[in-house]
Amino acid sequence: MRVGVFGGTFDPPHIGHLIVAQDAYELLGLDRLLFVPAAQPPHKLDRVVSDVPHRLAMVRLALAGDSRFAVETLELERGGTSYTVDTLRELGRRYPEARLVLLIGADQYAEFDTWRDPAEIRRLAELAVLHRGGADAPGSRARPEPGGVAVTRIDVSATAIRARAAAGASIRYFVIPAVADYIAEHGLYRAAAPNGAPRRG
Ligand code: ATP
Repeated sequence: MRVGVFGGTFDPPHIGHLIVAQDAYELLGLDRLLFVPAAQPPHKLDRVVSDVPHRLAMVRLALAGDSRFAVETLELERGGTSYTVDTLRELGRRYPEARLVLLIGADQYAEFDTWRDPAEIRRLAELAVLHRGGADAPGSRARPEPGGVAVTRIDVSATAIRARAAAGASIRYFVIPAVADYIAEHGLYRAAAPNGAPRRG
């Protein structure tokens, strides 16, 4: 059984994540793809990451009804910064039958050698490097390199979606409807008041 591992902040989960996940699922012959939300990194001072319960709820809504995908909460349970090598070790314990396939962006891959214990990561999992901007038809998507997959280019980021929401622009079609409803209902990503406190109402 081949189990993909797709880590991220997912603040919020958007169509770029889902389309890339689907591409990876098909191109890598996965049986299951795990979305692994990262805990709030204590050192991430450049921006406030939404609370874990909100991000988890949104990921659950985004994946609901699609049995190819599942959310794996181990990094949230652990809290703080998780090293990929530790996450893979724990996933190996949770899914002893699985061959783990770690999805990693081409930009991240460029720095892979600086990660904690890259050799051990390669031992624990197969690396799948995602190259954005693959050809349109699945059949024509040649792998750009061994272990690499060419995925659909979707120019959407969580940062841009948060900025749209903060500016009062619609985020419809950038996220699935259940996630858009959740964001509206909970007033996520509204512009901060001048003193930095979240705006109410
Ligand atoms: P942010 O803008 O807050 O940094 P993000 O949209 O990049 O967030 P993450 O949760 O950080 O989302 O992403 C998780 C993973 O999904 C990362 O590996 C990232 O490269 C990938 N990813 C995000 N957006 C896209 C997209 N539009 N197409 C393909 N991969 C994406």
